[in-house]
Amino acid sequence: MEEDYKDYYEIALVCQNGHVISDRVSGDTKGSVKYCPVCGAGSTDKCGSCGEFIRGFNKKVDPAEYRIKRAPHQCHRCGELYPWTKDAIQTFERIIDAIDVFKDEEKAVLRTSITDLIEFTPNTCQAIRAVKGLSIKIKETWGWGIIEEILKDISPEDIKARLGI
Ligand SMILES: [Zn+2]
Ligand SMILES: [Zn+2]
Repeated sequence: MEEDYKDYYEIALVCQNGHVISDRVSGDTKGSVKYCPVCGAGSTDKCGSCGEFIRGFNKKVDPAEYRIKRAPHQCHRCGELYPWTKDAIQTFERIIDAIDVFKDEEKAVLRTSITDLIEFTPNTCQAIRAVKGLSIKIKETWGWGIIEEILKDISPEDIKARLGI
């Protein structure tokens, strides 16, 4: 695993809110930025669960000019969701719970859909259908703006396109 990362990936420095401070920290610059220039939160280059470095720039695949703009959702080694992903999911769930136009079973469907909307899973199509099916109701509520922001921030482009956001 150590060899893999050395061969292919630079290390990313990311703040607790998921802003990518650098997609290639190494040598002297490693750990030099303690706080995020965007939001002021503390920075990290490691998984809090297993200590594996956060993957940044991919030396083998990405074109030379490419920079990663979004932090990964979860650790590639242990699968633990990074703090910024957990925060987004929790906020999404809290908003869904707080919106009072939904029946309990609709809330349950929406709450579980989020994990299938942040990356492609076998249930992604179903989750997109569920959200679109309830979107007229959601869009009339105060919570939609926040939900839309979360999904814009965290979902892959294809999923956003299919959700129409
Ligand atoms: Zn930040
Ligand atoms: Zn990990």
